[in-house]
Amino acid sequence: MAQQTHIRLNDGVEIPQIGFGVWQVDNAEAPKAVKAAIEAGYRSIDTAAIYGNEEGVAAGIRAAGVPREQLFITTKLWNDRHGTQNALKAFDESLKKLRLEYVDLYLIHWPTPRTNLYVETWRALQEIKSSGRAKSVGVSNFKVPHLEHIIGETGIVPVINQIELHPRFQQTVQREFHARHKIVTESWSPLGQGRVMKDPLIAGIAQKHGRTPAQVALRWHIQNGLVAIPKSVTPARIVENFDVFNFELTEDDMAKIATLDNNRGRIGPDPELFT
Ligand code: NAD
Repeated sequence: MAQQTHIRLNDGVEIPQIGFGVWQVDNAEAPKAVKAAIEAGYRSIDTAAIYGNEEGVAAGIRAAGVPREQLFITTKLWNDRHGTQNALKAFDESLKKLRLEYVDLYLIHWPTPRTNLYVETWRALQEIKSSGRAKSVGVSNFKVPHLEHIIGETGIVPVINQIELHPRFQQTVQREFHARHKIVTESWSPLGQGRVMKDPLIAGIAQKHGRTPAQVALRWHIQNGLVAIPKSVTPARIVENFDVFNFELTEDDMAKIATLDNNRGRIGPDPELFT
């Protein structure tokens, strides 16, 4: 299997381009799934406090036995923990559940603009980063005005924005903003929660390359310079989703997939409204 690829964040840290997402993997299931992913070659795991599986993720990491410094562990602050003191406490709880001395990346999960504490929370994340307990800090589900607001107020640009992104919802305007500000774009639901597997155009490209539709979609993320975090608990699919570093989509394939973009293709909630 070819080497996995990485992207350099604006603070110099490198993140693997394919990580393992564990939303909807329950705490009991997580040890087995995370161990299987690490054994398949994944080094990056994406969890969150709200997923309720940080302890299970910790068990999977321990069971895999890979040195800590080779792993890239992300977790996220939930919406009801915004504000300085809440955020600092929430971070401590996550770190304890993960049984780690540091996480590689800590994210504000949603901006929750109606609560309007995300600038203060963003400052709290700087304190966490300064303590060395999060190597990098960033955000998730921030739209352009939310990013402009935190950058304007603090002067500190997040390393990453983790957003919904898949062939049916490509977020081109948001990605252009990220590129201008050196913010890496990380795609959540990179397989459109399974919907891309049903797309005939992707199926055709997959057939041509002797690959699966999931692999074509993940290759599309990689070749667009994105970080993607597919989720599966099925061992064969966990392996399949990581086996994407030894083939390439053509320019023509990429252009065809670009035509699938649909501004009504969003699956998850609108971050402006979500609390
Ligand atoms: P996904 O796009 O990764 O799709 C996962 C689903 O696709 C699986 O449940 C399975 O049904 C199917 N699947 C996976 N691999 C397959 C394969 N090879 N062949 C056929 N079917 C396959 O969706 P997701 O789980 O929503 O997103 C991935 C990760 O993104 C999550 O686990 C989580 O870590 C992260 N996420 C973050 C946010 C956020 O707000 N920041 C929101 C949603 C998800």
